[in-house]
Amino acid sequence: MSKQIHRPQRSCVACRRSADQDELIRYVVAPDGRLVVDYQHKLPGRGAYTCFNRECITRAVQRRAFVRSMKNAQIDVDIESLIGELRQQVEIRILNLIGMARKAGLVASGSQMVLATLKKPAEIAMVLLSSDVTQNVGSKVRQQTARACIPLIECFDKATLGRALGLSERSVMAVTKSPLAQTLNHELQRYRDVMGEF
Ligand SMILES: [Zn+2]
Repeated sequence: MSKQIHRPQRSCVACRRSADQDELIRYVVAPDGRLVVDYQHKLPGRGAYTCFNRECITRAVQRRAFVRSMKNAQIDVDIESLIGELRQQVEIRILNLIGMARKAGLVASGSQMVLATLKKPAEIAMVLLSSDVTQNVGSKVRQQTARACIPLIECFDKATLGRALGLSERSVMAVTKSPLAQTLNHELQRYRDVMGEF
């Protein structure tokens, strides 16, 4: 992928891989001495970076790479709270993107609408299915998306998906191909890379 703009490069404190800073997770030290995730890359102060995966985060903590990189032996680093914060922040970002996609008219939701939309699969970027969908709807959606080769992502529960859309519970939604759908897909990948699962 060629890029015209030269973006700032940073390297992961665990594996030393160098990448665009947007592709890495940024961390800063909060005033109380805790290492926190700076998901939006907006917090002031010296930053440290890791890749978007659990392995590099864990390795950075275990090898005290954050402490070395920040040149601060007093940092309080807790792996569970870092992962928890990251999970929460990626989740908020995903749910916001779903809301934006709906406002842009890019989402069909509810089993009837989605099953009807799946008849024109070329326009669909992905289908999201809630973890608590009924067996009947779930198997229909799984079959039809598999047949049409549409990526199916099983994530969140129907209350959460509904809330993201500003609607009541929704067990399934289809997102139309668009730059917004690509961004959403990218964030969903990140979520999976860090959490392993939804
Ligand atoms: Zn790394």
